[in-house]
Amino acid sequence: MGRMAVGLDIGGTKVLGLAIDVESGAVLAEHRVLTPDGGTAVMSALTGVVDDLQRRAGRRAEAVGVGAAGLVDSSGVLRMGPNLPGVIDLDLVGGLHRHAGVPVVVDNDATAATVAEHRLGAARGATDAIYVALGTGIGGGVILDGAIRRGANGFGGEFGHMVIDPTGPRCGCGQVGCWEQRASGSALGDLARAAVDEGRAPGLAALVGPGDAVSGEQAVAAAAAGDPAGLAVLDEFARWVALGLAALVNALDPAVVVIGGGVVEAGAVLMTPLRRQFTAFLMGAEHRPAVPVVPAHFGEHAAAVGAALLAADAI
Ligand SMILES: [Zn+2]
Repeated sequence: MGRMAVGLDIGGTKVLGLAIDVESGAVLAEHRVLTPDGGTAVMSALTGVVDDLQRRAGRRAEAVGVGAAGLVDSSGVLRMGPNLPGVIDLDLVGGLHRHAGVPVVVDNDATAATVAEHRLGAARGATDAIYVALGTGIGGGVILDGAIRRGANGFGGEFGHMVIDPTGPRCGCGQVGCWEQRASGSALGDLARAAVDEGRAPGLAALVGPGDAVSGEQAVAAAAAGDPAGLAVLDEFARWVALGLAALVNALDPAVVVIGGGVVEAGAVLMTPLRRQFTAFLMGAEHRPAVPVVPAHFGEHAAAVGAALLAADAI
């Protein structure tokens, strides 16, 4: 049996764990639980997932990697997570090392996902790339000159908290009008609900039962079926995503932009208006090489795979 590393992805909604064969990269086992509130509960969820993966895979992990949705400092402490209520200064490295007795590596979730997409996925071979995950919030990562860039404190790539609409909603981070309030998967649901509440989307309203709120997934389904209101919601959403993407590409000049997170499952009804509006916002788009905007290869597994790859580096 080959060596195994475990990768854990702590998101605002769920903890996803993967056991990975270090040599081949193959997924040996997968397990997920809902993310509980509070640091102690999160830690016991993590150790439970590690135990479960080892049982399913029939072997011990030689290293554990974690990608966490928040500010992870260079010693592996999760300082805070805007979508992780009650989690402050959680010592992920210490807690998991005491439990598993193997090297533990902790990074921001989107940083880990960026590593996975750069080494083995949609940004493979690119010297300069950015990764943007549109999920509960928005995470991101930066590859420059062939290497992941974390910044002075490890807090780089928090694209979701660029303020792009100072009149927008308050964010979990305390600011107002952060990009993720307009362009995350959660924000897509907000746009769909606003369209229904304002009477602009009879086709969408017909999809939901009395007392239920329309979801982002329903807006995507309506758009895919050609419903004009669904298409309009996706177009409005794509505009917000494109606004932030163009700013990032103007700042960093990547060769490729990789889009991950649950929203990317929408496919062409998102990617087509996104590419069009991104080009419209980009500085001098007609005078520079095209910057491909492509879906992530690893989908929702990206952060856990990247965490396992970073852990394997530590064996
Ligand atoms: Zn924010």
